[in-house]
Order: sequence, then structure tokens, then C-alpha cells
Amino acid sequence: MFVRVMEKTRLIEKESKRSKDDLIVIGGAGGFIGGALARYFVAKGFRNIRAVDKKPLPDWYQRVAGVECLCLDLSRERDCDQSCEGAVEVYNLAADMGGMGFIERFRVECLRSILINTHLIEAAYRAGARRYFFASSACAYNTLLQQDPQVTALKESDAYPAMAERGYGWEKLVSEMFCQEYWAERGLKTAIARFHNVYGPNGTWDGGREKAPAAICRKVVEAVESGSNRIKIWGDGTQTRSFMYIDDCTKGIDKIMHCDDLIGTPINLGSSELVSINELVDKVERVAGVKLERDYQLDAPRGVAGHNSDNTFIRQVLGWEPDTTLNAGLKATYRWILAQFQAMRKGHRVVE
Ligand code: NAD
Repeated sequence: MFVRVMEKTRLIEKESKRSKDDLIVIGGAGGFIGGALARYFVAKGFRNIRAVDKKPLPDWYQRVAGVECLCLDLSRERDCDQSCEGAVEVYNLAADMGGMGFIERFRVECLRSILINTHLIEAAYRAGARRYFFASSACAYNTLLQQDPQVTALKESDAYPAMAERGYGWEKLVSEMFCQEYWAERGLKTAIARFHNVYGPNGTWDGGREKAPAAICRKVVEAVESGSNRIKIWGDGTQTRSFMYIDDCTKGIDKIMHCDDLIGTPINLGSSELVSINELVDKVERVAGVKLERDYQLDAPRGVAGHNSDNTFIRQVLGWEPDTTLNAGLKATYRWILAQFQAMRKGHRVVE
């Protein structure tokens, strides 16, 4: 209640206009969304971007020309201070994460990402950054509301009373609270977006951390290239989800970060086009021009029965919502994964 009052009464200080020379710091930029965000800002004409990731530089998914790339561990306070020096805006896209198989198995790793946000937001505050962005997740929502594949879409207030996804979801929920309190108590303008399953080119597509759309594209590619014509599906395929294309994600991050009505306020950033995993496979098969035999692995990780993004709030505040159709996004994603697969067989990786 007290926090509520502080949030309501805190005046939003007028800040100087955004300049293309403002230093933008992106944590986790060696990964999927952080890399895409660096590319997005370069395309918008920003000239001063610092990309940070703990992975060695050759392992980054994208290295964008003109962007300063630093290999630092953002779970360490000193590395966060170094990353944020001179920053005007800081985006936290860094986390130890993966698809369902990863987050159900490595809960401690997921929880330890709390160190990243804790140090990074403090460093951003100390550096005098104007705005701070945190990438939260639909996994922050109460899992008890996600037991039925015929889902009612999740609206922002459904995170409380809290029963988040173990490990990964609780880390997101607590980090959201950090962002809310840095705004309420210290006046740092924070933005919090709850992403719902992001997919697209330049994401993880094999190795165990990949998410459903990339995993299914890869499995279809493998079935076609090997001639097996069979695909293994985790669970019974009736689980439902919505999937947001990467270009909608980067655009949404920018809009949410710069909306004064959303400071310190978690908001869904996801598509509301709900599909079952079976329907997702149908769509990828259509893109590839094949029809495969399906083997259902009922003991594999399957996550909650269903979740979708309720976009009432984002439509109301921003007059916009992610709108790339799954058919269009999957076409681009399949094409990219096919190229990766073929390049890998020849012993190299396609990096943009
Ligand atoms: P990703 O795994 O591709 O990228 C995350 C990056 O963070 C990786 O490159 C990793 O090396 C880096 N990282 C991890 N620990 C670090 C540390 N200590 N210091 C510096 N870098 C570190 O994941 P992504 O899909 O790009 O996700 C970005 C953010 O969005 C994450 O916070 C994730 O939880 C959130 N999110 C993603 C999705 C999705 O569908 N991709 C959905 C919900 C939320």
C-alpha cells in the first residue's frame, strides 16, 4: 500500500530529449534478444551502443558493426559498474535461461540470475542512468492459472497472489520488485516487460536451451534432411502457447522503455495468437512442404498446460501490440535454421 502511494505521488521529472549519441548499454547482447536490440538501435541511428555478455566474443549470436562489445560477467558488481559507466539507458537482457527443458532442470542457475539484475540496476542508478529496462517473463505468472490448455489469457494483475514458475519465474518476479522499488524509492525510471515466448532468426536453435518454435523448426529440418520423416514432440502436443516474433519484441521494448505511463509497471509483451504445439508443428510442416509422423514423448518436460498474453493493457497504453503473424515469423525462422543446419554440417556457423 505504502509503495503504491509512493508510486502514485512520485513526480516524473522532465528529462532532456533523447540524443542519437546517448550511451545505450545492453546486457546479454551476445544472446538472442539483446543482439537483436543492438541491431534495432543501430538501424534507428543510435551511434553509442555498448553490448555486454559473459560469453566469449566468438560465441555471440550477432556482432553488430559499430557496437562496442565487452565480455564481462554481469553477476559481478565490478563488471556491472564498468558496463554502466556513462550510461544514459541500460537494458537488462542477460539471464541464464533456456526453453522448458532447461528451466525445469536448472532451477538454481535460473535463480542465480537475480545477481545480474541486483548489481546491474544498482550500477545503472549509481552511474546516473535515466532509464533502466528489465526483461521479465510470462513465467512470473501464477502457475495455478495455467493448468488448462483452454486458457484465459493472462493479464498483468494475474501475477499476484504469487505462485510463479519455480526457479526461473520467481527470479523474474523478485527482479521486477527491484525495478518497482528503485523507481518508488530512488526515482530511477524503470520499465518491466513480461515477454511471452520470443522466436525468430539468430536465436538458440539446438544444444538444449532452444525454445519450442526453434526446436520444432530444427526437428523438421532434421527429419527432412535425414529422410526419417518422423518428429518427436514433447508432451501430447495439446499444450497451448503464444509466440512473439523478434521484430515485435525489439519494437515493444523501445515503446515500453520510453512510455512515462509505464514506469515501474509490469506489462505483457507478447502475441495473443494462441496455438497448440500440434498446430505449431502443422505450420512448420506447411512451411517445409512436408507431413511427418509424430512420436509423442509423454515423459518429456512440457511446462504449464497453456498460457496466452492478454493484450488489453498494452493496446490501451501504447495503442499497439505485437502483430507479426506466426505464419510469417515461422517462414523467416525456418529459413534461417535450415541455413544454420546446412552450414553446421559443412563445419561452420552462419553469423549475420
Ligand atoms: P539468450 O540466452 O539468448 O540471451 C541471454 C544472454 O545473457 C546470453 O547470451 C548469456 O550469455 C547472457 N548472460 C547470462 N549470464 C550472464 C552474466 N552473468 N553476465 C553477462 N551476460 C550473461 O536469451 P534471450 O532469449 O535473448 O532472453 C533475453 C532475456 O529475455 C532474458 O532475461 C530472458 O529470461 C527473457 N525472456 C526471454 C524469452 C524468450 O522467449 N526468449 C521469454 C521470456 C523472457
